[in-house]
Amino acid sequence: MRPLFQLLRRAVKPRFQVAFVGEDFPSPLPNRTLVITVDGSLALAAGMRCPCGCGDDVLLNLLADQRPTWHLTVRNGRASLSPSVWRTSRCGAHFWLRDGRVEWTADQRNQLVKDVRAWFAR
Ligand SMILES: [Zn+2]
Repeated sequence: MRPLFQLLRRAVKPRFQVAFVGEDFPSPLPNRTLVITVDGSLALAAGMRCPCGCGDDVLLNLLADQRPTWHLTVRNGRASLSPSVWRTSRCGAHFWLRDGRVEWTADQRNQLVKDVRAWFAR
């Protein structure tokens, strides 16, 4: 049963699309989308609805000369962020975005519940 369960887990995992916009984030941020603000060819920041489904926005700096900063790679329209994203206040979500998918860190409880909530978040 374990491989089947893992297949189902994978199927339910929200896949985040990537959208590049100008210097301002749209409001509200679109669901299941990593929005990248750019100035010319320079990526400034990344924004996404928190993948736990709490409804908060998560905004991440991509400029290397400001801290904290995240490294963004986009391959075949799928984004990866490094290091992990850890919301130390509010919902406490801690995850990696890898290849467009949210990978919860081992300390996160109710991972399946979070993924399902993210699907249905408005
Ligand atoms: Zn959250």
